[in-house]
Amino acid sequence: MAAKAMLVTGGGRGIGASVARLGAASGWRVAINYAANDKAATALVDEITEAGGEAFAVKGDVGVEADVLSMFEAVDRRFGRLDGLVNNAGVVDRKARLDEMDIARFERMMRINVIGSLLCAREAVKRMSTRHGGQGGAIVNISSVAAVLGSPGEYVDYAASKGAIESFTLGLAREVATENIRVNAVRPGIIDTEIHASGGQPDRVAAMRGLVPMQREGKADEVARAVLWLLSEEASYTTGAILNTSGGR
Ligand code: NAP
Repeated sequence: MAAKAMLVTGGGRGIGASVARLGAASGWRVAINYAANDKAATALVDEITEAGGEAFAVKGDVGVEADVLSMFEAVDRRFGRLDGLVNNAGVVDRKARLDEMDIARFERMMRINVIGSLLCAREAVKRMSTRHGGQGGAIVNISSVAAVLGSPGEYVDYAASKGAIESFTLGLAREVATENIRVNAVRPGIIDTEIHASGGQPDRVAAMRGLVPMQREGKADEVARAVLWLLSEEASYTTGAILNTSGGR
């Protein structure tokens, strides 16, 4: 039987790239979605392939329905099955107070972080659910400690988007619990990736590490290991869970 297949959104860099790398090393075939950085996604596919794994890259914006539909069609063509979805693609924005934010910012944040995850999960359920003739599967959504901290003075809109992800995780887990699909979330803390620089705060990791009980930032691989466990059969009775991967924060 062909190896299990997963789709990782935003898998070209950061946490998603670690999930793709570790997934491939654990025997998964991996579809790596990304938004713009062709070079990073291609280099990761080459790295996985050279290590003996199977992966391909698929460009598309998770917040655009047509892109999501073609992304899943590419997975259907290439792998013919889908066993895992990691809803990892996400963005932050510049540090600001709510009264400084405009509607374009709100719409971008919710479109990518929330609607993107809803669209991808919908397409995954259509393929995985026993109700639709599928074999089941697992979905892991990437939240953030922002969901419970609220990110005041920094980005309450981002925190709200991750709060939505957590409610969605719980609801969908219960909705499809009898259809052989498990739905869980990982809640990372401060992780050393390029997302902080993309939000205009390249020194954010150094500035925040003192707030973490473990007194250090996390590595993308440390989040990826939690994701891989939730995707695996080892987590067969775990659904609707939100796993803190945040050094105690
Ligand atoms: P990152 O290093 O900035 O990487 C983001 C990835 O998402 C990139 O591959 C990017 O594609 C892709 N992406 C961005 N917008 C997209 C879109 N509209 N459609 C498809 N792909 C898109 O981010 P990260 O730090 O790994 O974060 C990954 C997830 O973890 C996010 O959901 C984030 O909110 C969450 N998280 C991160 C931290 C942290 O401290 N790093 C903490 C808590 C939660 P390109 O490579 O093409 O640009």
